[in-house]
Amino acid sequence: MKVLVIGANGQIGKELVSLIQQSDHLEAIAMIRKEEQAKHFKQIGVEAVLVDLEDNTKAIAKAAEGVDAIVFAAGSGPKTGADKTMLIDLDGAIKSIEAAKIANVKRFIMISSYDTTREAIQEASSSFAPYVVAKHYADEWLRRTDLAYTIVHPGALTNDKSTGNIEASEKVEPNEVPRDDVAHVLLACLEDKTTIGKEFQVIAGHTPIKEAIASLA
Ligand code: NAP
Repeated sequence: MKVLVIGANGQIGKELVSLIQQSDHLEAIAMIRKEEQAKHFKQIGVEAVLVDLEDNTKAIAKAAEGVDAIVFAAGSGPKTGADKTMLIDLDGAIKSIEAAKIANVKRFIMISSYDTTREAIQEASSSFAPYVVAKHYADEWLRRTDLAYTIVHPGALTNDKSTGNIEASEKVEPNEVPRDDVAHVLLACLEDKTTIGKEFQVIAGHTPIKEAIASLA
């Protein structure tokens, strides 16, 4: 199965690409936005495609040609303003979903945010609200497609060492989760078809990742 990782140069994206590359039945294609980022992927034997999420949908669809699944791991990050939040976390995500349809890619896995409900928008600080709005509508757009989607809602991301254990459920108490464990969760979703049509929150926990993901069925 060929997997296009959008946001492949990101912290979760990079880890996911290498996990996919280590698997014997998956192949990663890294979608990156800068030429100089290609070197890393070349070194680990991964094809890289150069597309900026501010490019048009056609450019993303071209990158997705011949692919079986897309993982959206991109994000504008906390250092940019609400303008980039709208352009990347909202419009970039929606263009990626539309690109999947154009390229006939059936499977789509979204890294969302911990809580993207309408209530979370109302409760968010004025600086955080645009991000929650962006994620809320990107998730909603995906739910309204007939793509085989999974929406992953991670808690606060850390760079702690992967433990291999998580807690995953429709609703979990707010907590942190290592980025590397989220990468393993995404891999588990790619490998477990029972996650299709599901969404869940994920935090650090005590259940082995594959087991926690399988128990969502
Ligand atoms: P990250 O390291 O910031 O990676 C984000 C990636 O998105 C980067 O590779 C970046 O590219 C790419 N990107 C940004 N703008 C782009 C554009 N215009 N075109 C193409 N790619 C673009 O993020 P992370 O730590 O792996 O986390 C992934 C996502 O998880 C976040 O973006 C966020 O939405 C979500 N999340 C975060 C938290 C949290 O606690 N922080 C919690 C839950 C969910 P460059 O490498 O070129 O900059």
